[in-house]
Amino acid sequence: MYDKNNVFAKIIAGEIAAERLYEDDSIIAIKDIKPEAILHILVIPKKNYIDFADFTKKATTEEIAHYFKTIASIAKANGADEYRIVSNKGTSSGQSVFHFHTHILSGSINQELINKNL
Ligand code: 5GP
Repeated sequence: MYDKNNVFAKIIAGEIAAERLYEDDSIIAIKDIKPEAILHILVIPKKNYIDFADFTKKATTEEIAHYFKTIASIAKANGADEYRIVSNKGTSSGQSVFHFHTHILSGSINQELINKNL
């Protein structure tokens, strides 16, 4: 069951602050608070989907198409030419926030730069 108290629900509702890199009627994109790459963006549908399986089951074909096309345009708009997209489904796969989202990761993982907040 979807838990309305998750951190992304609160960010979407404006109850927790986050810099919005992109927003439209159905999606927001924010920077990950603990980046694991030089560029680490989270693309989050506003509707209450728990994970990838829930999203693909309940969202319309148009919604799904819009979501993935938007991921590509957000990556491009943020200067990412080469990148990984990841969506963890389930605790054992690394999901820690149970509101569906996709990570865009670009640039090598460089802990030294991350520690310097670059
Ligand atoms: P997951 O582990 O579910 O695949 O991804 C959740 C991501 O959300 C993690 O990478 C984590 O760093 C990020 N995150 C957790 N809380 C916050 C927050 O309050 N603000 C932002 N911007 N990111 C968050």
